[in-house]
Amino acid sequence: MSGKLYLVATPIGNLEDITLRALKVLKEVDLIAAEDTRHTLGLLNHFEISKPLISYYKQTEKKKSPILIQKLLDGKNIALVSDAGTPGISDPGEEIIKEAIESEIEIIPIPGCVAFVNALICSGFNTKEFMFLGFLSANNKDKKDKLNEIKYETKTLIFYEAPHKMKNTLEVMLEILGDREIVLARELTKIHEEFIRAKISTTLEQIVDYKGEFVIIVQGSNKSKDSYEIEKLNKLSLEEHYEFYQKSGLSKKEIIKKIAKDRKVDKNTIYQYFLEK
Ligand code: SAM
Repeated sequence: MSGKLYLVATPIGNLEDITLRALKVLKEVDLIAAEDTRHTLGLLNHFEISKPLISYYKQTEKKKSPILIQKLLDGKNIALVSDAGTPGISDPGEEIIKEAIESEIEIIPIPGCVAFVNALICSGFNTKEFMFLGFLSANNKDKKDKLNEIKYETKTLIFYEAPHKMKNTLEVMLEILGDREIVLARELTKIHEEFIRAKISTTLEQIVDYKGEFVIIVQGSNKSKDSYEIEKLNKLSLEEHYEFYQKSGLSKKEIIKKIAKDRKVDKNTIYQYFLEK
């Protein structure tokens, strides 16, 4: 019978955040696949757990997954852990999980810390609807493209970022998203845990040293793409507004209806205007 693949969440700073179930699973499995074996060894030593470790990180996911799958098929139980938080969330995991599903291996999540969830719940922004984007590309063009793509997203936006890229990322956010309210959740669950709540520009002025780990929470756009475009159309003359819809091949009747809707006026008023013209 195949073994089980446990996806075990570990603390994101404070070791007391490990769950009883995580400790039990780490004690009972045959093998622990870890993003950084030395880092995980520190955690295991702290809880007096001794287990064989195998390294499993981003660059080796493709190569190591079949090896781990074979061990699972041979009946070994394996726990996958990352350096911090939940495996697979901006961390290795996707590859082995896909292959385990194909090989009909049972996958069991062992819930625990996820940095962004804790940052989001303390943000004071909309927690009903949010978009997690993980790390933006280190390439400035790709970074800008992604931010342009989500510029009109009204949901709360959540990003991870490395400390040495924070300043650049906030500058690019200011340029593309405008001066929005943000919350920087710094060093969550650690001694110097801090929430910095301000506009992007103020944050950039105030923070001199981006030390520690950060989650960036950005307030969603207060205008959807549609309302932004309607606002732009409403600034045009009625003739220009008419031409805009004419280009998309609408009939006269449809155009008048659309203009009236955009401008929140009665369609007869628009009709009358063009009749008089
Ligand atoms: N798998 C992890 C999780 O479940 O949250 C995320 C791993 S990702 C490689 C690391 C990023 O998560 C950091 O660059 C930072 O953006 C965020 N992060 C992790 N721990 C954090 C902490 N204690 N405080 C703030 N951000 C943290």
